[in-house]
Amino acid sequence: MIKRWAYLLLMILFSSCHSYTAISSTSLEDIANGNCTIIDLTYPLNRTNAYWPAPSYAPFTYKTIATLKDDGVFSGAYSTPEHLGTHIDAPNHFEENQPSVDKLSLETLIGPATVIDISDKVENQSDYELTVADIIDWEEVNGRIKNRSIILLNTGWWKKWDDYEKYKNVDHTKTLHFPGYSAEAAVFLVEKRDINGIGIDTLSADCGISADFKVHHIINKSCKYILENIANLDKLPPSGATLIIAPIKIEGGSGGQTRIWAILPPP
Ligand SMILES: [Zn+2]
Repeated sequence: MIKRWAYLLLMILFSSCHSYTAISSTSLEDIANGNCTIIDLTYPLNRTNAYWPAPSYAPFTYKTIATLKDDGVFSGAYSTPEHLGTHIDAPNHFEENQPSVDKLSLETLIGPATVIDISDKVENQSDYELTVADIIDWEEVNGRIKNRSIILLNTGWWKKWDDYEKYKNVDHTKTLHFPGYSAEAAVFLVEKRDINGIGIDTLSADCGISADFKVHHIINKSCKYILENIANLDKLPPSGATLIIAPIKIEGGSGGQTRIWAILPPP
């Protein structure tokens, strides 16, 4: 009789665990079987892509070097700054003795997505910076930020992506204006939470008016990366998606073009 009760108890425990897994997480089997929606957070590379607007930076170029008609094979060659389009800033971008893009640990390039939407606050304040209070507010609704998260900031700035001038938003003093993270929020994320990296739908994790790039220093100094010019953040839930981040492997590079996939849990 005791054995029968123990068996029933085990069955109940197993079935409740199983249903929890199916509802709230994504297995490799789910992905392999095509049960998950996968959202591309990457803009296609072309000559209109936004890049960091400083001397020596330049637009993406592509030229055809062989055609099917003339050569029997289609092939092209391209050039681009590392910090153009959807890309990653490796920890060596702003700090000495930190890994280059080819040395990023693969384990940190996969993790849960935490999507914080501040687009309503940015609407009338282009220079808005994410605050610690914004993060706490997010956690009150969605629960504590999961360990190994990649924080993705949806500022709504992605709506300007197709117009580089509006996206840079330079004023008459040549100052850029777009939203970003505050230094306090960056310190909070690296010290009080367990994150793999951060990302944003603008040219920089520091807001446009920043002259000291504090957020870059804070994040890179703690050996973490930054994703910039991310697409499709409005298509993600606040939590539940899993990110796969695949940067170009430039030996010794400070960053580079990066394909980013968000895998939504099966329905
Ligand atoms: Zn960058």
